[in-house]
Amino acid sequence: MGREFVYTQPVKIIFGEGKFALLGSLLEELGVSKCVIACGRHFAPTALQMQEKDSRIAAVFGGVEQNPQLSGAIETARLAREVKADAVVGVGGGSAIDTAKFAAAIALGDRDAEDYYRGKVPFPSERLTIVAVPTTAGTGSEVTQVSVMSHGTEKRTINNPVFMPKAAIVDPVLSSTVPPRTTMNTGLDALAHALEGYWSKNHQPISDLMAIEAVRLVLENLETAWRDGGNMEARSNMAFASLLGGLSFALPKTAGSHACSYPLSEDYHLPHGEACAFTLDSFVRINADERLEELCRRVGLKDTEELAARIAALKELGGLRKTLSDLGEVDLDKLAHDCAVHGLMQNNPVPMDEAKLRSMFLNLK
Ligand code: NAD
Repeated sequence: MGREFVYTQPVKIIFGEGKFALLGSLLEELGVSKCVIACGRHFAPTALQMQEKDSRIAAVFGGVEQNPQLSGAIETARLAREVKADAVVGVGGGSAIDTAKFAAAIALGDRDAEDYYRGKVPFPSERLTIVAVPTTAGTGSEVTQVSVMSHGTEKRTINNPVFMPKAAIVDPVLSSTVPPRTTMNTGLDALAHALEGYWSKNHQPISDLMAIEAVRLVLENLETAWRDGGNMEARSNMAFASLLGGLSFALPKTAGSHACSYPLSEDYHLPHGEACAFTLDSFVRINADERLEELCRRVGLKDTEELAARIAALKELGGLRKTLSDLGEVDLDKLAHDCAVHGLMQNNPVPMDEAKLRSMFLNLK
């Protein structure tokens, strides 16, 4: 059969060093008269300074934590209603952007936020405008219709068109302060998005091309960004890789490594990127086929074995956890079960059951 696909990418993307300065004109262009900024502690002081200078910034929620809690989105939505905002701007890593997305989606609703979170009721038909400004290079959340929210110890990935940002400003300068460990975790998240979008059962031609370029950029720039956070060329290439990684999984969705990342984050508290990287080299070996060999050749690697070795080397360099013994006491049966039944495992090109996953975890090096 000839080539067939449907490709949609509705987010206006402004990319470049210093482009965050265009936020005011972007809000004006989008017809936003008042907005709330959702961000984490690292950006909160800057957001408050911006609020003093720009009357369009009517409120700041500066309390977004890693693995963001639903309560943060509820508070952001409350602020938005209080100041009658028409937009929520998420400035930060995936946690801040996902909080902004959820807040914008529920702000105009009259149901309990938990009802939306649990899918008991559909999201309100009216929502606030979402603007995403990533300050890490990893999640690609600025171009996806996904919001990952935690409620207590439960972490849910909610995939819904209501979360699609209207616009994103990707300014690599904002990522120059990310500490080395987060640089490594988030950079490997970008790599995982690209590889998983590429090998997902639902992969498609445009996404494939972006995935290949994202893999090349990560392999060529992540170590430099990790060693020298002030190297703007490496930061810029990683910001672009993260954006391309987001675009390459936005439609195909992710697969085995991401399915495993959820139990690893929920039960063993690994940050998202580290949790994806934990099994990424294993899945390179499991999913190795002619298409993946072709990707490797196109990014200048000999074969999939070299790709797996490069991922393992980056994990080693960054001091990331790599084996079951690094996780402390592990309930392997539960871990294998929870990974096997996660919805994203269905997208993996090679079927994985509990027995195969148990053996994969036992063979981690
Ligand atoms: P994060 O947003 O949790 O941030 C990690 C840490 O880095 C935080 O402490 C944050 O305050 C800090 N930080 C962020 N930017 C900084 C900067 N410029 N300088 C200094 N410190 C900075 O990490 P993340 O990896 O970007 O996001 C992870 C979250 O995103 C997880 O919840 C994950 O599940 C989710 N996620 C969402 C999508 C999506 O499409 N929506 C995709 C992948 C991951």
